[in-house]
Amino acid sequence: MRDLYEVLGVERGASQADLKKAYRRLAQQFHPDKNPDDKVAEESFKEAANAYQILSDDDQRAAYDRYGFDGLKGAASRGQGPGFSNVEDIFSAFGDLFGDFLGGRGGGRRQQRGADLRVDLGLTFPEAVWGVTKDVKVSRDVACETCGGNGAKPGSKPENCATCKGKGQVVHAQGFFMVQSTCPHCRGAGKTIKDPCEDCRGRGTKPETTTLSVTVPPGVDDGQTLRLAGKGETAPGGAAGHLYVVLHVQGDERFRREGDDVLTEIPISFVKAALGGEVEIHTLDDNCNGTATVELKAGTQPGDVLVRRGQGIPHVNASGRGEQVVQWKVEIPKKLSTRQMELMRELAADLGEEVKEKRGLFGRKKS
Ligand SMILES: [Zn+2]
Ligand SMILES: [Zn+2]
Repeated sequence: MRDLYEVLGVERGASQADLKKAYRRLAQQFHPDKNPDDKVAEESFKEAANAYQILSDDDQRAAYDRYGFDGLKGAASRGQGPGFSNVEDIFSAFGDLFGDFLGGRGGGRRQQRGADLRVDLGLTFPEAVWGVTKDVKVSRDVACETCGGNGAKPGSKPENCATCKGKGQVVHAQGFFMVQSTCPHCRGAGKTIKDPCEDCRGRGTKPETTTLSVTVPPGVDDGQTLRLAGKGETAPGGAAGHLYVVLHVQGDERFRREGDDVLTEIPISFVKAALGGEVEIHTLDDNCNGTATVELKAGTQPGDVLVRRGQGIPHVNASGRGEQVVQWKVEIPKKLSTRQMELMRELAADLGEEVKEKRGLFGRKKS
């Protein structure tokens, strides 16, 4: 096995601060999130974690300095490879180091981050298109104000747990392996409280129902989720989880959404389709109550569309808008007056179309 100081790239007499700095640098370099599926990087990541774990413990470091690997208990002394057999153990052991530097992984020290919460938020179609600020009610644990969230009576402080020396984890040899487990004394918190805060009974958090103001950006769609970082549950003595706001958008019969395009179906008579002219349509302007006059081309066919560029739904958190697609729905009248029928027959004759009508109540006027 490589010399532990060499692994971290520091001098033998390096201070704890230097060790930590060196380890952070290596952890960042070989972080599994940055080196997906890279076995070599993963081994380096474990090797650095193992070296740091041993050297950051004063007793183990002294033993190593004097006797080398023989001075260590467990796997390392027998050359069995790093004390950490998998990456997840490293995150749970050094989560606080990753937390501030790398944004963690699954939130670093899991037991110390509050739970994520989920709330549902209903929006009307115009609210989804143009954005809105809405209040949502959330019941969650928040940091206790009396003790500042540490659970200790004001004037006193939580002390480092004597069993794990504040690490929250204990390491012991089990057969050939070094096994990490949550400290049984402080249950992973790393701290013990002698004088608990009376307000929260030492938990550091209190349940609270709050009204939060949620800003919904323009262009959101049904089923999308907004993340409010740090607005979730607060863990005792730890960071808050996130609040996820799931959006439910009502439909609007005038508009159909397809991505960031909005489809508008406009019924027109076949006469108008043939002749063309001006048609009034609904638009998304004025909070989806706008109107515009558009040109219908003479000879418009069923299924023809008119595309109004940049008049669709705003792109979320980006500039620009989708398109408004006007779909012409050409309608044939179901009933005609006698006069209209006369006109139609005249038209048919002019077009040279032979129309053989069924005999009956309306039949037999021709020829
Ligand atoms: Zn308190
Ligand atoms: Zn402990």
